[in-house]
Amino acid sequence: MRPARLVLITSGPTQEFIDPVRFISNPSTGRIGYELAREAKLRSFKVVLISGPTRLAPPKNVRFIPVITGLEMRKMVKKFFKQADYLIMAAAVSDYKAARPKKQKIKAEGAIKLKLVRNPDILDEVSKNKGNKKVLVGFALETRNLVKNARLKLRKKKLDFIVANKAERSRTPFGDNKVSCVIIDKFGEKRNLRNISKRELSRVIFDKIETVKI
Ligand code: C5P
Repeated sequence: MRPARLVLITSGPTQEFIDPVRFISNPSTGRIGYELAREAKLRSFKVVLISGPTRLAPPKNVRFIPVITGLEMRKMVKKFFKQADYLIMAAAVSDYKAARPKKQKIKAEGAIKLKLVRNPDILDEVSKNKGNKKVLVGFALETRNLVKNARLKLRKKKLDFIVANKAERSRTPFGDNKVSCVIIDKFGEKRNLRNISKRELSRVIFDKIETVKI
């Protein structure tokens, strides 16, 4: 029998500190990544779950790696990527971080200027070493041009498929809400999913993952 395949899943937000007590982040709750980890366990995969700060308890029997910043997440993804058969990058990595985080708390004394720089794009970096024996799945969250932007990311990051969520003010994809999203694969196939729970979405994602031959 073949040994269990390894699924590497990232989840949650990252926090990028501007001083010792304040950070830049986003409202990601980690829900989708934890549901994916649960579904992977149900399907008998080995699971490594790398997560930014969330309030969720990790599923049983997964190797859980908590991280805070994008740089920490990148280090851990790189550590496990070689062994992984599947990478699902569901984390909302903060795209920006402070150029020079202050060592002391910034005093609240009127306006300040804060220089932000890009965090490295983890998926973009690791996909360069993808080879043809790994499956890569990404997520995209857009406020406009959802499908167009998702297609660009799919190609640039050499993904097998991408799950694209539209962020609307009235209905955010964060948290326990049901989501409507589009799954686009590298063959150009597009599937619309309306109003489904993240548990159901995780099943759809694994059904698709298991059709990819590696
Ligand atoms: O931020 P963006 O919309 O480009 O994210 C698309 C995909 O890239 C997601 O799967 C996300 O987890 C990943 N990503 C990453 N490192 C970043 C930003 C995004 O791996 N710094």
